[in-house]
Amino acid sequence: MNTNTTQQRVLTGDTPTGRLHLGHWVGSLENRLQMQTEYDCFFLIANVQAFTTRADQPTEVHQSVIEIALDYLAAGIDPKKSTIFIQSEIPAIAELTVFFSMLIPYPRVMRNPTIKDEIRDKGLGENYPFGFLLYPISQAADILTFRPALVPVGEDQLPHIELTREVARRFNQMYCHVDPHTEDADYLKQGGLFPILEGKLGRLRRLVGIGGPGPDGNLLKMSKSLNNAIFLSDDPDTIKKKVMAMYTDPSRLKATDKGHIENNPLWIFHETFNKDVAWVAAAKQRYQAGTIGDVECKQRLIEVLVELIEPIRQRRLQYEQDLHYVNAVLRDGTARANEVANHTLQLAKEAMRQRYF
Ligand code: ATP
Ligand code: MG
Repeated sequence: MNTNTTQQRVLTGDTPTGRLHLGHWVGSLENRLQMQTEYDCFFLIANVQAFTTRADQPTEVHQSVIEIALDYLAAGIDPKKSTIFIQSEIPAIAELTVFFSMLIPYPRVMRNPTIKDEIRDKGLGENYPFGFLLYPISQAADILTFRPALVPVGEDQLPHIELTREVARRFNQMYCHVDPHTEDADYLKQGGLFPILEGKLGRLRRLVGIGGPGPDGNLLKMSKSLNNAIFLSDDPDTIKKKVMAMYTDPSRLKATDKGHIENNPLWIFHETFNKDVAWVAAAKQRYQAGTIGDVECKQRLIEVLVELIEPIRQRRLQYEQDLHYVNAVLRDGTARANEVANHTLQLAKEAMRQRYF
């Protein structure tokens, strides 16, 4: 376990609504693996957030917490360097959520494009719970509790990061008497408790899914909840079936038709994951000219994805044999996270003049 407190902190996390997929890999995991040597990293499994859409599936959420922990370890997150922990076991986050919810006007919470997209794309209709609207504030608490310098995330999280920055500015102005004209970078120097932190995007801001466009005609993001993901735990056979069935260019009916590259997941995936840049460039031209078939391009993609995913899957199989170890990682990580979280809560209560005893 990392005890180096002089390192800057990183905080990010995942909702246990399934297993991790290629979107997580390019959107955030690659960054986390790089950062874990330089930063004191905290990776949160957001099980309370999973209840915003799955309150009726507690057993699945529990199982998914373990799945995400397995995915982390298999992907190379090292518990000697990084702290992996469970959101609901950190009471300070819940307490700060309540205080933070007083700092942001209700219409501001509703003006969040990611919330609107999720309601539409996940088909939540009008009957989503009140707690669903609260989750961006709860996420601000997840983040600020750890007072990180950086938060590695995919593009869909940027509106939440912006809200987190607003919460931090308001708290610092209201309770730490930081001048509202202060530059974001200077808030801590001016006596603020919470940093005005930055989101750090991965090399791809948003990986599309394999299932084609959503209700608004645009390609949907790859998402655990949308049944359009290739998981880091998929075996070669599953990867093959998924790639063979994936959405490509609907106007191309046979291999001799001229194909489109834009908005075509086949080529987005090759560009993102295929290291053979020369092959990709040549094959793209042939695809547009109608001289290469989808099947050949898909077979190449299957090879590329199996090469990336298979070592991760093999490590995962090992960890699946040792769930006691996984449990110990979560327990120790959660204990360490509580130390940091309780310290922040004390400081926050002091700033808010709400420490009585
Ligand atoms: P859900 O469907 O339940 O919302 P998800 O697949 O969107 O799940 P999250 O747990 O919400 O996954 O996201 C965890 C992190 O991974 C976030 O930082 C998010 O931005 C990033 N991420 C998720 N999907 C993608 C994607 N397709 N491309 C890039 N980043 C992604
Ligand atoms: Mg999501």
